[in-house]
Amino acid sequence: MSDVLIVGGGFAGTWAAAGAARLLRAHDAAATVTLLAPGPDLVIRPRLYQAAPAAYRVPLDRVLGPIGVRRVAATATGIDTARRTVTADGAEGRTEHRYERLVLATGSTLVRPDLPGAERLHDVDTMAAAVALEDHLQALPEAPAGPGRFTAVAVGAGFTGVEIAAELVGRLRAVAAPHGLADEVEVVLVERDEVVGRGLGEPARPVIERALDELGVVRRLGVTVAGVDERAVRLSDGTAIPARTAVWTAGVRADGLTAQIPAARDALGRLAVDEWLRVRGVPEVYAAGDTAAAPAEDGHTVTQSCQHATPQGKFAGHNAAADLLGLAREPFTTDPYVTCLDLGGAGAVLTKGFDRALNDIPVTEAKARKRAINESWIYPPVDDAAEILRAADHRVSQRGPVPAPPR
Ligand SMILES: Cc1cc2nc3c(=O)[nH]c(=O)nc-3n(C[C@H](O)[C@H](O)[C@H](O)COP(=O)(O)OP(=O)(O)OC[C@H]3O[C@@H](n4cnc5c(N)ncnc54)[C@H](O)[C@@H]3O)c2cc1C
Repeated sequence: MSDVLIVGGGFAGTWAAAGAARLLRAHDAAATVTLLAPGPDLVIRPRLYQAAPAAYRVPLDRVLGPIGVRRVAATATGIDTARRTVTADGAEGRTEHRYERLVLATGSTLVRPDLPGAERLHDVDTMAAAVALEDHLQALPEAPAGPGRFTAVAVGAGFTGVEIAAELVGRLRAVAAPHGLADEVEVVLVERDEVVGRGLGEPARPVIERALDELGVVRRLGVTVAGVDERAVRLSDGTAIPARTAVWTAGVRADGLTAQIPAARDALGRLAVDEWLRVRGVPEVYAAGDTAAAPAEDGHTVTQSCQHATPQGKFAGHNAAADLLGLAREPFTTDPYVTCLDLGGAGAVLTKGFDRALNDIPVTEAKARKRAINESWIYPPVDDAAEILRAADHRVSQRGPVPAPPR
């Protein structure tokens, strides 16, 4: 039996556990916090488009251990909100976990297409997929020579598609150059829309287009992928691109466990939550991160992003624990929305707000910001309980100084 049970060990789940532990400690409450997730690590998912992805993880025990959160290694398979139980499969077989308050933070998954050769499509949505892509790229020099050996096709020109296309130029060159084959590198970005990155906003598009030109990324717009085989990617217009690598990026949905909560969900499968991140109509259940359609500034809804998952986790954990103790809950607020899009060797671009106004700083300066985000800002503190609990304060801006702890 857990007083607060968190399902999911990503950004939202990890910070929910820390947010709950912080409040319970501040009130000397003996209540227990348990985090249930399949793997032992917090995967730094926003970095999975980069080279050497296996390193982008933080052992959950180094965050949860010092603050007294119990970790259970298992995959949740069922939620019964009437009985307040979660069933899970792990090394000990099927187990049942009772809760007083539940935080559902199981994230999102890429929707893969149903087309001939779909199993050949790589992606960068999970650690396993990102490592498989890295292994595939590293093995290309040993693959039979021929057209398309160092050509990669990225499918979908949204945030992840542009980032992986830009990054693949440098990653493929690093693999091919030691064999004198860097000239064979080509990256093609395939997009069904007539423009690149429509969702990233009009103001950023010229910067993105310039960067893709500089990197030599070929754009095939107004088409989609019809099939993939060992040697080529076939497009919907009947043409084929000789390529040994194809990376699918289009379409992300909230994890399927959201469907087991009897509540309204949006088009992305996210649960409708109130200002405390409590699932509407299910009082003991909170949702945070990519599973939750939470309110953001100016009437907007949060995006499925690390920058929104982290504060949602802190608020959801705090509020679940406050609810348990009969304390006042805090309405969710978050820093104003920004995006920082990596353009690989051509820098990065920053936008502000949901209308994505361009933050017109040089691409090199934006790249330094992206590095700070990827290599520092999104990592939790480890090993030091006081530091972890201080960072778990839901009132701490992710971008600002850390305030004194509350009494
Ligand atoms: C390539 C890429 C680039 C990105 N770039 C950015 C960026 O620049 N900026 C940004 O803000 N966001 C970015 N994102 C999005 C960001 O990574 C996600 O929005 C964020 O990870 C969501 O956090 P989360 O905790 O909700 O879910 P996740 O981080 O996905 O964590 C979900 C957790 O739930 C666990 N889980 C899943 N199913 C179960 C189950 N059945 N039982 C138990 N546990 C389960 C998983 O193992 C994992 O621990 C990027 C994502 C990708 C893939």
